[in-house]
Amino acid sequence: MGMKRDTERAGAAVYRSVRWKAIRHAAKRRDGFACVACGARGARLDVDHIKPIRTHPELAFDLGNLQTLCISCHSAKTKREMDRRTENGPERLAWRVFTRELTRNHLKINDIEKEA
Ligand SMILES: [Zn+2]
Repeated sequence: MGMKRDTERAGAAVYRSVRWKAIRHAAKRRDGFACVACGARGARLDVDHIKPIRTHPELAFDLGNLQTLCISCHSAKTKREMDRRTENGPERLAWRVFTRELTRNHLKINDIEKEA
């Protein structure tokens, strides 16, 4: 099984968990139920991981790593991240290091799944 699939499973385990639902609500309340990027209120709001789960699984439930974004700001951010990952920049290198670490050690993934 590939590393991509493992990191997707880690993200899915986070989003399924009761702990995520609680921390997501806490993040929205802290941000005044408004998008921190454009200030939209009342729109459907997502809670975004500032440092993505795939690179920082240990920050998946860290309120300081969360921000409230409306759907359109969130998808714009996700698209920027995807674009960057296709380049050979430092993030690309960090991603390779991360997947290599995962090959050696599945501890972080397992810890997250236990929370679910
Ligand atoms: Zn927005």
